[in-house]
Amino acid sequence: MPIETQTQRSQKTPKPKQFGNSLILFTMALLLLNFILLPTLRPRPPEVPYSNFVEQVEAGQVARAIVSPNRIQYMLKPKPNAENQAPIVLETTPVALDLDLPKILREHNVEFAAPPANNAGWIGTVLSWVVPPLVFFGIWGWLFNRAQGAGPAALTVGKSKARIYSEGVTGVKFEDVAGVDEAKAELQEIVDFLKNADRYIRLGAKIPKGVLLVGPPGTGKTLLAKAVAGEAGVPFFSISGSEFIELFVGVGAARVRDLFEQAKQQAPCIVFIDELDALGKSRGGNSPFVGGNDEREQTLNQLLTEMDGFDANTGVIILAATNRPEILDPALRRPGRFDRQVMVDRPDKIGRAAILQVHARNVKLGEDVDLEKIAIRTPGFAGADLANLVNEAALLAARQYRDAVTMADFNEAIERVVAGLEKKSRVLNEIEKKTVAYHEVGHALVGTLMPGSGKVEKISIVPRGVGALGYTVQLPEEDRFLMIESELRGRIATLLGGRSAEELIFGEVSTGASDDIQKATELAERAVTLYGMSKELGPIAFEKMQQQFLDGYSNPRRSVSPKVAEEIDRQVKEIIDGAHQMALQILQQNRDLLEETAQTLLQKEILEGEELRSHLNQAQPPVALRHWLQQGKLSNQENVGSEITHRAV
Ligand code: ADP
Ligand code: MG
Ligand code: ZN
Repeated sequence: MPIETQTQRSQKTPKPKQFGNSLILFTMALLLLNFILLPTLRPRPPEVPYSNFVEQVEAGQVARAIVSPNRIQYMLKPKPNAENQAPIVLETTPVALDLDLPKILREHNVEFAAPPANNAGWIGTVLSWVVPPLVFFGIWGWLFNRAQGAGPAALTVGKSKARIYSEGVTGVKFEDVAGVDEAKAELQEIVDFLKNADRYIRLGAKIPKGVLLVGPPGTGKTLLAKAVAGEAGVPFFSISGSEFIELFVGVGAARVRDLFEQAKQQAPCIVFIDELDALGKSRGGNSPFVGGNDEREQTLNQLLTEMDGFDANTGVIILAATNRPEILDPALRRPGRFDRQVMVDRPDKIGRAAILQVHARNVKLGEDVDLEKIAIRTPGFAGADLANLVNEAALLAARQYRDAVTMADFNEAIERVVAGLEKKSRVLNEIEKKTVAYHEVGHALVGTLMPGSGKVEKISIVPRGVGALGYTVQLPEEDRFLMIESELRGRIATLLGGRSAEELIFGEVSTGASDDIQKATELAERAVTLYGMSKELGPIAFEKMQQQFLDGYSNPRRSVSPKVAEEIDRQVKEIIDGAHQMALQILQQNRDLLEETAQTLLQKEILEGEELRSHLNQAQPPVALRHWLQQGKLSNQENVGSEITHRAV
């Protein structure tokens, strides 16, 4: 991922952690009590020199002694004439080397013993039980407080996590965002509001409160929000929708309150809520749990209240971003809230060139680099992908000790991004290699004859990335926004071309086609359930469109009768079967070319450019191809599939 420069982000210094500190103090106090105070509370007997003690023993005055290595406590015998006299207890420090002491004591009938086990021991035992948990709670409390960003009051939960980006700190300007000119034009208006609020207010105009940036991931929504703040030179508060959702109900709502409080103090400013969908999912409805998510609802309600609560002209403008606008709560979109929506879409060819230009500013480019050509070769790439691409190319050039990034680096980087890293270590055995070669040439031959799918640029049997043993690069000549029915059929046939080649040449198939089959099936299913391309079922939507911008998610099916479900399955199978037959027919008709190209590929491992084209240009379309592309049907006598399948070689 591209590296964002956020190091200068100015963060507020955390306040002292009072809760944790008091616990630690308490623990220390306990220890102090044990070691210093307790011993002094017990009265200590007077101390006498050791020699006196020995004399007294020898004079027979000592009744008993308690001997420990560094202290002797002893009691004198009561004087014979004094009654009711309190026993005199004395203490002395023994001379360490006096090994005769026990003998002397015994000779003078002194009762002596070692001291009972440390009489302060119980407190040690208690402490050993009490202190570790205390320390644990102390640390826990400290972490807890830190996590909550505690203010002066101990144990406050849910203070705002919004960070302040002050003027110039976002450092992002509109010139750093490219390829989204329409979005920029709309946001320019917001910049103007922020800069010249007076002009609008004087005329009685209400400045919009909320703007929703909508678009697929990586198209620059976050970047645009920062650029708006940067252009207007106002503070930028940012928080992600998921950060509002906490374990405790009510915390998110408190955060919202706090965020707006801070923002109002800093107005004019931008409050940016990233991933609004995490917070603003439609209430009720979709949730499988009755009652929904309390915390989310409360937080959302608080947000709605706050948005209504401040005057439009305080100068706080809320930007939010989402890639799932369809699931947002309708209440969020009504006038006075996020009533403006700005679409941030994937860039077209010109946009991609512009984005590449932006990111290539900091990279040394070689003379042969043509950013426009790269833009042509990267349809469907979003801004983040392009930023990543430039970085990958620079990394490659650096690894080769080059002075500048060359076009070859960019080409390799594109393949890396599309197909993954080259895996030279994955060695295929001969049979596998042969299978992969025929499989890929199968894709390439069928793909060459299909409309609208672009030129086959490269075939490779060098393993790459996750699971790709070989790959065929097919690049469209222009950006496409629609797929015509015939092109969709052609695409499915191309996907099945690999497997069909295996069938034709080896008479059996490998496991290598699973991904192709998956994609082909999905496409066929969409043709029937989403695009209404089946004549029998007609233009009825059988899927609920729920994901507009996120690819690769399948939508749930509308509830249909079993009969219709059966018919859908039948139609899908018919499309797949037709495409499969057509792929087989093409390959059978061009069988010699298939053999020859595959053999060349086996030798060279990579086929591209002129050489590849000279092979593929010889491909002949079968007579039935046109009719099939248009009607989706093969006439009976042309249906040669099953026959071929069993003619094993
Ligand atoms: P989003 O929020 O839409 O998912 P981001 O704004 O986080 O995407 O984009 C991620 C990175 O991709 C940006 O930091 C930037 O480097 C690059 N990027 C994305 N879109 C653009 C664009 N339109 N122009 C320039 N750079 C872009
Ligand atoms: Mg983002
Ligand atoms: Zn394949």
